[in-house]
Amino acid sequence: MYTQLPSTKLLRNLSLRAVNSLLLSTLTLSSAMAEVKYTDQQKLHQIAEQVSADNIEKDIRKLVGFGTRHTLSETQSSTRGIGAARRWIKSEFDAISKACGGCLEVYFQSDVISGQKRIPEPTEVVSVIAVLKGKTDSNRYVIMSGDIDSRVSDVMNATSDSPGANDNASGVAGVLEAARVLSQYQFNGSIVFAALAGEEQGLFGGKIMAAQAQKDGWRIKAVLNNDMIGNIEGVNGVINNTTARIFAEGTRQTETKKQAIKRRFTGGEVDSPTRNLARYIDWMADRYIPNLDTMMIYRLDRFGRGGHHRPFNDLGYPAVRIMETNENYNRQHQDIRTENGIQYGDTIDGINFDYAAKLTALNAVSLAGMAWAPNPPVNVEISGAVQPSTKLAWAKATGKEVNDIAGYKVYWRLTDASQWQYSRFVGNVTEYTLENIVIDNYFFGVASVSKEGFESPVVFPGDAGSFGE
Ligand SMILES: [Zn+2]
Repeated sequence: MYTQLPSTKLLRNLSLRAVNSLLLSTLTLSSAMAEVKYTDQQKLHQIAEQVSADNIEKDIRKLVGFGTRHTLSETQSSTRGIGAARRWIKSEFDAISKACGGCLEVYFQSDVISGQKRIPEPTEVVSVIAVLKGKTDSNRYVIMSGDIDSRVSDVMNATSDSPGANDNASGVAGVLEAARVLSQYQFNGSIVFAALAGEEQGLFGGKIMAAQAQKDGWRIKAVLNNDMIGNIEGVNGVINNTTARIFAEGTRQTETKKQAIKRRFTGGEVDSPTRNLARYIDWMADRYIPNLDTMMIYRLDRFGRGGHHRPFNDLGYPAVRIMETNENYNRQHQDIRTENGIQYGDTIDGINFDYAAKLTALNAVSLAGMAWAPNPPVNVEISGAVQPSTKLAWAKATGKEVNDIAGYKVYWRLTDASQWQYSRFVGNVTEYTLENIVIDNYFFGVASVSKEGFESPVVFPGDAGSFGE
């Protein structure tokens, strides 16, 4: 018998203090239950406050000003087309880097694509990437991305005006602003800011980047793909600037048959690293972004639609799509026109800059939190069948950041709860037994905690939940 806990949806709408007291008041269920405690981070509050809606507006206006950013548009002009747009993005990253003493490594990343349905002739697909190298674990990466290119009704139309203000100048402007803010700090892991190309023609920029990262052995722990973060008025008339969506796929695409069989018996369907990345971002919203609640969506993307997080998911990396809650389809992929009194086209007047700043701030605190935290626990294992206790074990941390680790936190939740409900800080150990907690009744995970109190995402045991090495 135990007291029914309020739903996590309700919990997420309460202040953390209210949540804690609520949990305490219902913690009659077992003395072994431990409330979720967390060290508030002033630096993350500062980061959230530094994100500027004015900067985002300026950058979206600039990107819209290139007329079209279609992947097949012209590349020689300095004022119109995809070439001018990407050169400007690079110059912005260069300026941001100059302001932090050269802290960013800025480069074009490209490949020639041809023979594709939406890119029939050889075309250079060129992304712009800026890397803020970490101090102690520079080969560990968290990535924020947006897409440079735009389109109108005909996906092959490379000449008509195609402002792409929301889809996706908003995402690129967010990436630039996050780079401005985060480049003022130094992190343990590396943070990558990516303006990816060729999205509308078939996710080419993401494919190129994910393949190169894999080849270079990047340990990618998170991709936060921002695709449309500026619209608050849905096509159905709903106006809402207080929620956002995080799309997160379930079981890992690269899961083997053998791993799937194991998962069937030990769980993990809703605990891929991508899902636990989504839970991490959801918590960051509750803690650091006033008046923003995120909706975690347990699917890869919108129904039948795509985005640049997918090529990373395809290779097994944790990656989510962050976007507005209410889409306006009259403003996506449309020729600019008025028909039957309805205005079509992705123009600048559809953007709410404060909202885009809010979602950018959510990205920035999530990236910073992960990049300051130690590496997520590795080789997490769980046992405890036919006994009234649950044992978790994980590998000893290695590398330069060992000195920065305060210890580990074990998390658990009811199997139908969307967010972690209970936690216990267990010190700097490599195994811990939760007495009087029956393994069958909860899902479990482990996070690593730095001496300052920064936490990694929670890692679910086994291959199903692994964030890799
Ligand atoms: Zn689009």
